[in-house]
Amino acid sequence: MSDTPHNDNNKSSEISRRGLVLVLSSPSGAGKSTLARHLLETDNAIQMSVSVTTRPPRSGEVDGTDYHFISLDKFQHMQKNDELLESAMVFDNGYGTPRKPVEDWLAAGRDVLFDIDWQGTQQVHEKLRDDLVRVFVLPPSADDLHDRLINRAQDKASVVAKRMAQASNEISHWAEYDYVVINDDLKTCQGEIAAILKTERLKRFRRVGLSAFVREMLEKL
Ligand code: 5GP
Repeated sequence: MSDTPHNDNNKSSEISRRGLVLVLSSPSGAGKSTLARHLLETDNAIQMSVSVTTRPPRSGEVDGTDYHFISLDKFQHMQKNDELLESAMVFDNGYGTPRKPVEDWLAAGRDVLFDIDWQGTQQVHEKLRDDLVRVFVLPPSADDLHDRLINRAQDKASVVAKRMAQASNEISHWAEYDYVVINDDLKTCQGEIAAILKTERLKRFRRVGLSAFVREMLEKL
């Protein structure tokens, strides 16, 4: 069941609104991908922004769905041509958000989900300002994060060690986000993110159709 305004058959849902960008950031292994997947499955008014990356695909990852896997040459070309809304080097690999799909979705009054790091979040904050809602996902503890990274076992041991070292750097940017959720219970965390999205969609400045709605009402009073 979706709880998006687009699916509700009430007066409120008919009022047009601006789309928003929901950013989810966290250190690797805090459960962010699971949270993102759940949100996309349960809410049909939000679409994932598929990033480009120069890192090789992990087993099970699908080109065009998880990432657009591209060469470093192509990545640099996209950066130069301003085809990326933001970009960053993470773990020695290039990552970036293609600009065009995001702009098209926002223009259509739909929402876009970004799974990007703190560097990318700072860049999109400069560009999108009020259209951006930033959520940071914290693991419940350092031990938990460590266990999840080891259990994931998709990366080489050296990569896991690097990710652990990067985790404290990523976490140190928690206060740059609008919301912080602690992923100790998946269901609770999913509910919190859904609540954030619902509330942000209801903000007056996003609901561009409200003026006409109220004007019409006042004319009839
Ligand atoms: P992974 O390689 O594990 O999929 O992602 C590593 C990190 O890169 C994660 O923290 C993820 O949020 C970040 N990331 C993924 N896509 C992008 C992107 O397009 N831009 C930026 N800045 N970071 C990204």
